[in-house]
Amino acid sequence: MTTPVSAVPVPAAATDGNAANAPNAADTGGSAASPTPWHTLTAAQAAAAAGVDPAAGLSEAEALKRLEANGRNDFPEPPRPSRLRMFLSQFRSLVIGLLIAAGLVSGAMGEWIDAIVILAIVLINGVMGYLQEYHAEQSIASLRKMTAPMAKAKRGGKIRNLPAGELVPGDVIQFEAGDLVPADARLIMASGLRCLESALTGESDAVAKSADLLSAADAPLGDRENLIFMGTSVAVGEGEAVVVATGPATELGRIAGLLESAGADSATPLQKRMDALGKSLVWICLGLVAALFGLGLWRGRDPFEQFLTAVSLAVAAAPEGLPAVVTVALALGVQRMARRKALVRRLPSVETMGSATVICTDKTGTLTAGEMTVRELFVDGESFSVAGGALEPVGAVLRGGAAPDVNQSEQIRFLAAVHAATATANLYREGDIWKVAGDPTEGALLAVGRKAGFNAETHSHGERLHAFPFDSDRKRASVIHLGGNGAGGDGRARLSVNGAPDLLIALCTRVHGRNGPRDFLPGERDAVLAANAAMAAKGLRVIGSGYRFLETPLPAGESGAPDMQAAERDLVFTGLAGMQDPPRPEARVAVAECKDAGIRVVMITGDHPATASAIARDLLISGDGAEVLTGPGLDALSQPDLEAKVERVSVYARVSAAHKLRIVQAWKTRGAIVAMTGDGVNDAPALKGADIGVAMGRSGTEVAKQASDMILADDNFATMVAAVEEGRGIYQNIRNTLQFLLAGNAGELLVMTVAIVVGWDSPLLAIHLLWINLVTDGLPALCLASEPIDRDVMKRPPRDQRALLSDRGFLFPLLLTGFLTATVTLIAFRMGAAAVGTDGGRSLAFTTLVLAELFRSFGARSETRPVWRMDWTVNLKLVSVVVGSIALQFLIHQIPVLERILKVRPLGFAEGLMVVGLALIPLAVTEIAKAVRMAGFKRPGRPSPGIPVPRKASGNVLQRPYAGHPKR
Ligand code: ADP
Ligand code: MG
Repeated sequence: MTTPVSAVPVPAAATDGNAANAPNAADTGGSAASPTPWHTLTAAQAAAAAGVDPAAGLSEAEALKRLEANGRNDFPEPPRPSRLRMFLSQFRSLVIGLLIAAGLVSGAMGEWIDAIVILAIVLINGVMGYLQEYHAEQSIASLRKMTAPMAKAKRGGKIRNLPAGELVPGDVIQFEAGDLVPADARLIMASGLRCLESALTGESDAVAKSADLLSAADAPLGDRENLIFMGTSVAVGEGEAVVVATGPATELGRIAGLLESAGADSATPLQKRMDALGKSLVWICLGLVAALFGLGLWRGRDPFEQFLTAVSLAVAAAPEGLPAVVTVALALGVQRMARRKALVRRLPSVETMGSATVICTDKTGTLTAGEMTVRELFVDGESFSVAGGALEPVGAVLRGGAAPDVNQSEQIRFLAAVHAATATANLYREGDIWKVAGDPTEGALLAVGRKAGFNAETHSHGERLHAFPFDSDRKRASVIHLGGNGAGGDGRARLSVNGAPDLLIALCTRVHGRNGPRDFLPGERDAVLAANAAMAAKGLRVIGSGYRFLETPLPAGESGAPDMQAAERDLVFTGLAGMQDPPRPEARVAVAECKDAGIRVVMITGDHPATASAIARDLLISGDGAEVLTGPGLDALSQPDLEAKVERVSVYARVSAAHKLRIVQAWKTRGAIVAMTGDGVNDAPALKGADIGVAMGRSGTEVAKQASDMILADDNFATMVAAVEEGRGIYQNIRNTLQFLLAGNAGELLVMTVAIVVGWDSPLLAIHLLWINLVTDGLPALCLASEPIDRDVMKRPPRDQRALLSDRGFLFPLLLTGFLTATVTLIAFRMGAAAVGTDGGRSLAFTTLVLAELFRSFGARSETRPVWRMDWTVNLKLVSVVVGSIALQFLIHQIPVLERILKVRPLGFAEGLMVVGLALIPLAVTEIAKAVRMAGFKRPGRPSPGIPVPRKASGNVLQRPYAGHPKR
């Protein structure tokens, strides 16, 4: 579909700047008739036409009014099934259809009680299914809300952070590199602004934008340089704009096809496999049941009775509840992850997270606390230490324990002035506590300036003409000022730069000495680099600074902004600042956990290699003398060389965003499941390329968040490990629940099959099977699916993502349990039948089977821990469901009405004891078998059970977690 680019006559009113009615034109922007050609208006005209004062923005009241008139700034979700339809869909399965038929047939035959009970059970099942689905959907929806994009808008004169969905036409928005463009808007200010518009125009290079240029009315979208568009993102620079269209009225909204893809891919691989497994099991059950039905008829049993039994058996044996169990387990897991500050954006990544084998993580702020304190300075060939806390301006700069001399103090304050000029962060006080608004690295630099006596309040940097913000590829930030205390006097503009010293020094041609700028002395550059390396080796993060006066006029680059390349050269070096950023204590624990869990931790940082390896050693990510691969080192390697090397490298330093993608790809070709963190615009390809892209919630850009599968609300490495733990726990819960359900079904099928084959009366009636399905399958299974995760999951190697349930560790206990359950049920039946007749036998068999399954649900809580080693307090829901169900089971033997409905007889004390004794046998035997198996696995060199062992693994899987994964 082409976007409307046809020539639209400029409304005379709008070009006159007299645009009383124009806001309405914006409001109804969706009407194809004559959308306001915003790109032909000047910024002032556009603001007037949108009915807003750009200095103050809209008032909250006005914004609310417009929100009501225009609707939200997002796209209407594809119509969700109504609640009624969701409820009805619970009855749309083959098995339920059969059951309803059975109910109707019973009614027709005059068996009213049976008919009512069957239909009641169908209804209860439907309600339960509906409630589960509804809750799961709610929890996913609330998560979607938490991870929705945010925007900065001026409301009532103040900048507010608000959900992009609440923007209205006329809102004045601000944005910078890494932000998503939240709506279509006319620029009123742009500084070095470039946008990535490929989503809209297909153009892959960033497009320069400017506030003042007017474009021809018929300019194609890509040439409307004074407009920015929803769905694109800011690559570099910053700007301010007036929103002119929101939601469906935007250019993005007009491209119909794009909208449909949103919100797809909601089923996880596990859900899909469960669905498939469930379906095939249903057919197998139906086949078996049909065969039993035929056999029963052939043996001359009552056809109606046989039909009911067959249908009930199909209902009881078919694992219809599987998809629901998976949905519930996933939804609960997602909620738990959110509580642990890991926000999942795509459901399938919950599972992927659980099978991660490699975590590639940022260092600063993720492995470290991100609380910087400058500890050392290096100015004019001398080192100084800094005493005092992180941000409060209390402390001192010392030289060998004494105060620096007057001259040195002067130079340190000069360095502080360069720091302060370059920084965009601010220090402020909240009560007694000093805080930083903005980049903590800059905050630390500002704090040390105050300690050194630099007076930020009285110092004026002059007019801020332009900024090239920090960017982790350039590894520096620079700002151009005109005038101020540090001015050159002759009206020239001044450039101040902070950045990675080893790169910055290459741009410096002179050094700031005690009498001002002078040439480097012989060997002085090397002395600076040595000081840098010495600080880095202590784990300090080092920032170098420089400045220069610019020729006038400023060399201009594209989009009117000064040319960065031309500006950032011939700098005067002013000094180094080394700051401490302590490792997070919880990161140390999390790294150790990863080791136990067979997950490789790889640190990727823009910092100096020595800083990186000091922190990596501290956190035990790498040992002494371990190799550190740098960005330039990576550039020198071909991709196959990198693949050969990637398993030996745990620390990458001085890398840029493009390297991250290469590292991800190298690991992936080695068969690893890779989680990769990122925060910048440039990290988006790596986040998308990784199996699990993880964005930083606090320091991350919107672009990175939208490219990610998961967001760490607290930027913390330990949170990522917690997410792995949850992912594994969810899988384990699903596995346990599935095993429990299938073992029960196998038992029921076996009981009925044996009876028919041997020629006994049916040990269980239709109504019994339905009751078992409802009481012993449904509720305990749900409780199992919501079991708190087992901490042991982090003591095993990652599971092979392809293997689901085909392993012996899963099937053997399942079959054993099914066999034992069937055996005790048949024993109860035969003993009862011998003593008090068939009805009595059925009564006993029924209750034995119910109790056996209820007891066994306790064992099903863990695949590795026998019941006597479980914590009973953590899943009280299961305990109460089981206790309640047992009580109910005994109750039906005592209450005449229930006795009649469920066709049971009163249970004597001795009989009760016998039933309980028999029902305990399957639990006892399986738990002892579990303990024996675990003892076997404890022998050294054997991997733990529960997780399929990679087949091709050579060597210890714990050390080479990726070894078992095939090339993908
Ligand atoms: P990381 O986030 O992995 O620690 P960065 O890309 O943020 O790496 O930083 C790389 C280098 O850039 C740092 O070692 C430091 O020298 C420099 N640097 C970091 N932050 C700033 C900043 N705000 N201003 C100037 N230089 C910075
Ligand atoms: Mg950083």
